Amino acid sequence: MISNLALAISPETQSLITLVMMALILTLFYYAILKSIPPSTQEVLTTKVIVRCINEDHEEQRTFQKGMYIGKILDEKCPKCSSSLYIHRIYAENMFEEKTTRKP
Ligand SMILES: [Zn+2]
Repeated sequence: MISNLALAISPETQSLITLVMMALILTLFYYAILKSIPPSTQEVLTTKVIVRCINEDHEEQRTFQKGMYIGKILDEKCPKCSSSLYIHRIYAENMFEEKTTRKP
């Protein structure tokens, strides 16, 4: 059945099919290589700040602003208990890793 089909196709068509197949395989191979290379590992860091209530009943994340330091008491009050808010943590966050969570 397969041999009959092969005979029905002219040698020119056969070579054309082979060429198209090779091109397809090469394209797939090219994309496979492209995907295996990790995208730009350039780090995009943002400084995040964890603001906490002194009674530890409230916590929020903010972006770092000039003049912030760990332990600083803010002028704002806790939305839950109206106590003072202070800066609990300051850390750098990698935006790139956050966006592409490839690792399970
Ligand atoms: Zn509070």
